Amino acid sequence: MGEAETLRVDAAVIGAGLGGLGAAGYLARAGHEVAVIEHHTVPGGYAHEFKRRGFRFEVALHALDGAGPGGWLHPMLDDLGVLDRVEVTQIDPFYTARFGEFEITVPARLPEYLRELKAAFPAEADGIDSLFAAIGRVAGDVARYGEDRSSGAKATPMEMLERYPDMAAAFSQSWRTFMAIHISDPRLQAVVSALWGYFGLPPSQVSAGLFSLALHSYHTTGAWYPKGGSQAMSRAIVEGILQRGGTVRFGNRVTSMEVVDGRIVALETDRGLRIEADVFISNASPSATVAMIGPEHFDAGFLTGVESDLPALSNLVVYLGLDRDLAAEGWVHHEYFLAEGYDVEADYAATASGDFSNAGMVIANYTDADPGCAPDGHSVLVMMSLAPWDYANVWGTGGALAGYSDNPEYLRLKNEAADLLIDRAGRLIPGLRESIVIREVGTPLTDVRYGLAQEGSIYGRRQTVENLLNRRSPRAPIPNLFLAGAWVGGGGMSAALSSGRTAAAIAGSLLTPG
Ligand SMILES: Cc1cc2nc3c(=O)[nH]c(=O)nc-3n(C[C@H](O)[C@H](O)[C@H](O)COP(=O)(O)OP(=O)(O)OC[C@H]3O[C@@H](n4cnc5c(N)ncnc54)[C@H](O)[C@@H]3O)c2cc1C
Repeated sequence: MGEAETLRVDAAVIGAGLGGLGAAGYLARAGHEVAVIEHHTVPGGYAHEFKRRGFRFEVALHALDGAGPGGWLHPMLDDLGVLDRVEVTQIDPFYTARFGEFEITVPARLPEYLRELKAAFPAEADGIDSLFAAIGRVAGDVARYGEDRSSGAKATPMEMLERYPDMAAAFSQSWRTFMAIHISDPRLQAVVSALWGYFGLPPSQVSAGLFSLALHSYHTTGAWYPKGGSQAMSRAIVEGILQRGGTVRFGNRVTSMEVVDGRIVALETDRGLRIEADVFISNASPSATVAMIGPEHFDAGFLTGVESDLPALSNLVVYLGLDRDLAAEGWVHHEYFLAEGYDVEADYAATASGDFSNAGMVIANYTDADPGCAPDGHSVLVMMSLAPWDYANVWGTGGALAGYSDNPEYLRLKNEAADLLIDRAGRLIPGLRESIVIREVGTPLTDVRYGLAQEGSIYGRRQTVENLLNRRSPRAPIPNLFLAGAWVGGGGMSAALSSGRTAAAIAGSLLTPG
């Protein structure tokens, strides 16, 4: 426990994930005095790194969407000072995906991708064009909807259907239904769904609106990676906040918030820090936020919604330092998706049940996109599969997480799972196991330990059709409390940052202009 200390600011932000940093960055930019309180010792939440003997390991980011010129994230990165401090480079080719024996490398430019698809599936050439045209129309509707809303126009549900028909249709169906209107070959359906892991759900469950928007963003404005990794991006936002007089405190977990006359007046941390503020923005999950404040301060409807919010899947990540330069040997893929066959629903079922021999997995080689992450002649190779929280009864602990990292059953399960991913990758990269000089493994329990992530969810709540239609509002029932991050804005780093901007705009409107 540290010395008791009290700070007084305009806005207090709980959590320095990209949702919290986005909110704090925008509030500081508007001239408000902000304080960010973070449990971990570094900023970023999932957008962070760790180091081992000359290797720098990206914890999460594979590909950032919208970060390039013309992309939807680009203005936010500019506003928050990231582009002044960090070079963001395009990943080209975007990725390679393997389904059994079939392999496709996806070029960064859409016309070339479409050519590749049509060459592999000539009988579906017209369907491929019509699918991507439909995706473009959804993105067009969403862009128009955003412009209309920012100019103050409001539409009734009926008018929404008339004004934005493609958006309305896509957000009310699954990606599987949406793509089946245009293409029928199940192999092609699997190929165009290769990025399903980015959403944590298979085509039958994920919102077609969300999937279409992400595909449109990645294929028209590119997939990007910041030099220095996502940690560089998080640090850049923190520097901007500090430069504007803000405060960022690490190693402090917010344990409670004080409510007076229906408004929050202060938060308190496990280190004895008290922050008093006019507005509070939580980057923690809604359920964790309720626990900090006390359920008695929320209405029954909100609590029922929070309790029924199922977390998205978590992850199993194997971080390897190799004593060889894979890129120099010809392994040129930044991301390589590996599926044992064309049945994405079966891949998901395997993933969700912890069957890591069959789960969809991705192999990422960071050495090209992030020069300097490995010593010369070495590589950083990361293998990842989505993973369930409640695998082998919460990874061998029976739910008693204290001291989990020394629990022999946890170690057995985690290493067994990691070995399966390494063996599968080793079939593509001969001699992989022999070239490992560093090996670390992250599980859902790791995500709780470092990022307090609810059940290790990496995308907040599940991104189903229903949840996308009924997005959680950044406004909480307490008038000076707001929510930011994947649980409200949707999974992914761009969406988390954007949700922070939204929360800042609403919370900032309650503050005296800075
Ligand atoms: C392995 C992996 C790969 C991924 N790949 C990609 C990718 O390629 N592209 C992409 O866009 N996204 C990717 N993602 C998803 C993306 O990283 C997340 O969806 C996003 O970063 C979530 O941001 P957030 O702000 O909502 O939450 P988080 O990053 O979880 O941040 C929440 C923060 O709040 C802090 N906090 C919570 N409670 C408290 C408290 N009580 N007191 C103090 N602090 C608290 C936590 O410590 C944490 O720092 C990946 C994620 C993982 C794990």
